[in-house]
Amino acid sequence: MKDENCIFCKILAGDIPSYKVYEDDEFTVILDAGPATRGHALIIPKDHYKNLYELPEELAAKAFVLGKKMITALTKALGCDGYNLVQNNGAVAGQTVEHFHLHLIPRYEGDDAGFGWHMGSLDAEDAQAILEQIKGAI
Ligand code: 5GP
Ligand code: ZN
Repeated sequence: MKDENCIFCKILAGDIPSYKVYEDDEFTVILDAGPATRGHALIIPKDHYKNLYELPEELAAKAFVLGKKMITALTKALGCDGYNLVQNNGAVAGQTVEHFHLHLIPRYEGDDAGFGWHMGSLDAEDAQAILEQIKGAI
């Protein structure tokens, strides 16, 4: 399952070069071309699914298990101090390539990878409203 207009499908087909970290039957892991830190990699399923909403549950589970395997090996290999696993869905969430991928971002003491969020505060009334709003949805 490919999308001929998708840059990741082109990479997986070998039409666009990439630096391959790992490959199995269902996933390829490549270095990100615009790394947040040294060693930033992407887990990409070989079949084209737009995002986590569309990714089959079985592949979603396998992607996270592979994430664990990768960061366990790469923390030692790269000598990093921690890892962020980031996964964006939708342009508003920062997704720029519409082929599901899981970012593996090594973190180094003192690095300046500036992503995160400003912590707000959870208001008790709104917390109740949120629970009411999502009741029955899951
Ligand atoms: P998103 O913003 O969709 O979560 O992440 C897309 C990622 O793909 C970005 O971190 C970007 O640097 C990376 N990327 C975009 N085009 C290419 C490419 O042609 N090759 C590689 N290796 N990474 C790419
Ligand atoms: Zn694709």
